[in-house]
Amino acid sequence: MNKAKRQAVIAGNWKMNKTPAEAKELIEAIKPLVADANCGVVCCVPYVDLSVVLEAAKGSNIGVGAENCHWAKSGAFTGEVSAEMLASMGVQYVIIGHSERRQYFGETDVTVNQRVRAALDAGLTVILCVGESLEQREQGVTSELVAMQTKIALGGVSKDELSRIIIAYEPIWAIGTGKTATSEQANEVCKTIRETIAAVYDEDAAEAMTIQYGGSMKPGNAAELVAQPDVDGGLIGGASLKAEDFAAIVKAASEG
Ligand code: PEP
Repeated sequence: MNKAKRQAVIAGNWKMNKTPAEAKELIEAIKPLVADANCGVVCCVPYVDLSVVLEAAKGSNIGVGAENCHWAKSGAFTGEVSAEMLASMGVQYVIIGHSERRQYFGETDVTVNQRVRAALDAGLTVILCVGESLEQREQGVTSELVAMQTKIALGGVSKDELSRIIIAYEPIWAIGTGKTATSEQANEVCKTIRETIAAVYDEDAAEAMTIQYGGSMKPGNAAELVAQPDVDGGLIGGASLKAEDFAAIVKAASEG
């Protein structure tokens, strides 16, 4: 596989953190630190922070994303936000299928697929999360599970539309736990995902697909992880809330 054919992307997932005022402060601090990045840089932020972050990121190399979207364009879905609404604001990215959404809010592979479809139809780029629990890893089903999650999430997605899909491999046991997958484990599963793309689409599509690793990535372990042949950057939770840490990971991906 030819790493040069695809762009590494470092995306921050701020989760349920930062008021609009705090968000402005953080994005202003990140901006100069990542201005010379040689990789994609994205910050995915709470809905209420989007306006202020979009405004602050204007003219910079930082893409702005949301952390979820609904599958319908509009309607009686109290508390939800549609992909169309996000796109109309100028949002470019959306995380879909994060394990916290699957775990705490009952999202399934089927609803993940519906959300992916809606996001693509609205013109957004999707950061699609897949990954196994510790129990599933110990049962030896990681490869099958991640392949299945990927295939279902991408149902009805054309090869052309894959240019607006980034896949984030996030082992649930490594998210927010301080336990990082070894670089070999991360690469092995990212490679499985790439092989799944090759089987469903073709080799070209697989070679072009950006596949991130996510799970306690930090300045101290980022360089080794992003240097793996099938790892194209990372989805960063905790460390994306500190400008210096996030910038150090962007630097590692720029050099890796
Ligand atoms: C995440 O939430 O996507 C994530 C990877 O979190 P953390 O980096 O904190 O493990």
